[in-house]
Formats: sequence, structure tokens, C-alpha cells
Amino acid sequence: MHTRAFNTLWVIALRFGPIAKLAISHVWFLCALILSSALCARARNRVYYWLKPFVPQSLRAAIRRKLARHLRKRIGEVWPIMQGSERPPENWPGWPEGRKFAVVLTHDVESNAGLQKCRSLMEMELDLGFRSSFNFIPEGSYRVPAQLREELTARGFEVGIHDLKHDGHLFSSYRGFKRRSVRINDYAREWGASGFRAGFMLRNLDWLHDLDVQYDASTFDTDPFEPQPDGHHTIFPFWVPRPNGNGSAVPASSEGYVELPYTLPQDSTLFVLLDETTPEIWMRKLDWIAKHGGMALIDTHPDYMALNASSQKTGEYPIELYKELLNYIRSTYSGEYWPALPRQVAAHVLNIRRHPTTRDRTGVGDQAVKEA
Ligand SMILES: [Zn+2]
Repeated sequence: MHTRAFNTLWVIALRFGPIAKLAISHVWFLCALILSSALCARARNRVYYWLKPFVPQSLRAAIRRKLARHLRKRIGEVWPIMQGSERPPENWPGWPEGRKFAVVLTHDVESNAGLQKCRSLMEMELDLGFRSSFNFIPEGSYRVPAQLREELTARGFEVGIHDLKHDGHLFSSYRGFKRRSVRINDYAREWGASGFRAGFMLRNLDWLHDLDVQYDASTFDTDPFEPQPDGHHTIFPFWVPRPNGNGSAVPASSEGYVELPYTLPQDSTLFVLLDETTPEIWMRKLDWIAKHGGMALIDTHPDYMALNASSQKTGEYPIELYKELLNYIRSTYSGEYWPALPRQVAAHVLNIRRHPTTRDRTGVGDQAVKEA
């Protein structure tokens, strides 16, 4: 009897042991996730980024994919195009050189794997007649060699700041943000960077006035898949005026900064979370932006790009999908788009604000920030 019971227990342990072990080892994470789902987005993000370092990447990716696919069925008509976002700012003067719309390519480099692919990506874009901005994390899991930064800028690319540590805690408290903003400003000076983008697009536009940069690129027109999902519902750059009396550390001469929302879905959302196998969504959105004379700003990650199909790893997508988009832009809209670096778009908006005659004709400089 004893032996039979022992054998039965042994069979159960063998069959369900691994699952039980996985569930038990992550039970606290799952409990926290369930509990946090009842919290507001800000609190949920705090719980998530606090737990993140202790949870295996594969488990996090599986949960995110499941949530994203579930969300996709519920979002309806707000993504990838949100109607109403195509309205230009009042008296918008258009793009330089009389171009119909703007194309702005940006990359966030998340890890050492991404860092190793920057040069190949740069060469590929140059071959197709494009230049882009590479945003690097100053104090993340890798160190960006000065030589790479210099090479990028020497060849007409731009280098920007991506968060500070990329740990999801940059905006946890204003005191902490102020402390970190000093270091971000040091890196911006050292790197000659004009722009910033927050990790995970977690942001507080009022606090960003403490950064000594011309533009921020941490927002989007519509992207319900982001942890802070409120979009700004515009496919145009806009000015963020300094709010009065927020105790900012930045000299009072700085009146504000330019905000550059990304307007094409991120590569990670399309190909890693939603398992898209073609760049068709990019093209459809680009056509819509071109039709309305907006700014097609894309954020892609070399980390997720497979340079060779034969060596594609889990969580990567073929770089050909991105290449297809660039070829589509070139062949369909030759001579119609303004291929701009983010800092050039920021300079365009600043020029509109500063040039008295232009400013009289345009309200772009004074457009209020529209929080969704
Ligand atoms: Zn990032």
C-alpha cells in the first residue's frame, strides 16, 4: 500500500513537477501581476519595473505577447491610424523645400547585441540614401564607444540620448528625476546630442524641461501597446512650452522644447509582439501620413533585427522588412518627402517660432500640448 501510494506520488511529481516548479518559482510575480492589474497605469508600471530584473526574459516576453494579442482584438479603430491626428497645427507652413511630408528614421539601441549591429544598419541606410538617429543608453548594460559615436556623426547620422539606465524608474519621483537629469545633461554635452527619448516611452513632459536638449521623442500619435498608452493624437511635431513655476533646474531662458512623436508603429510591436510577417502596416500608415503632409517618424531597434536570415534568433525579425519600407519610400515618393534627422525637424519648428514673419503666419509655435 505504502509502495503504491509512493509510486503514484512519484508519477505525479515527475509529470507535473516542472510545471509546478515554474509556477511556484514565479507565483509571487504572477500574484503581483494580478494585483497590479487592478492599479492605475502608473502604479502598475512601478510594480512591473520593480519586478522586471527578477523575471526571466522569456517569461516576460510570453506575457507581453499574450497581452498584446488580447489587446489588439479590443482596440478597434484607434491603431495604427487614429482619425483626427492628421489635422495640422494652426497655420502650419509646411515642410522645407516644399516637400509634401517628412521622413524621420530613429533607432533605440537597447543592448550590446544592438550595439554590434549599428554599423551594418548605418551602411544599409546609406546604400539606400537615408540617414538616421541612433539613441544610446548612457548607463545601461553596454558602453557606447566614442569611436562609434564619432563615426556616426562624421557620416551625417545623429546620436541621441536614450534614457539614463533604461530601468523604468526615471520618472518614479521628481527628486530622483532631477538627480538623474544632471547626468543626462552631462552626457548630452559630451556626446553633442540634441535629443532625448525615454526608456519604454515612460514620460512626464513637464519634468523634461529639466533636460538641456532641443527635442524629446518619447511620445507617439497612437500606440495602445505601450505601458503609458496615452497618445498625443498628432502626426506633426509640436512645441512644449515651459509651465510656470515648476521649480525647474533649467535656466529661465529656455522657453520649452520640441516634441517629436513617433507615428509609425515600433518594429518590436509589429514583429516581436504581434507576429506580423510583412511591413504592410508601415506602408499603409506611411501612405496616410504622406496624404496628409505629416511626419513619418519611425523608431526601430537594431537589437531585434536579424542581419542574416540564416542566423535569426528568437525575438528577432529579418532586417529585410525594414529595408522593404525604405525601398517603398524611395520608389513611391521620390522627391516628395523631406528626409530629415530629428534635430533638423526640431530646428524647423524652432525656426518657425523664432522667425517673426513666419511666426506671424503660423500658430505652430504656440500650439498647446494636448494630453490625451
Ligand atoms: Zn528602449
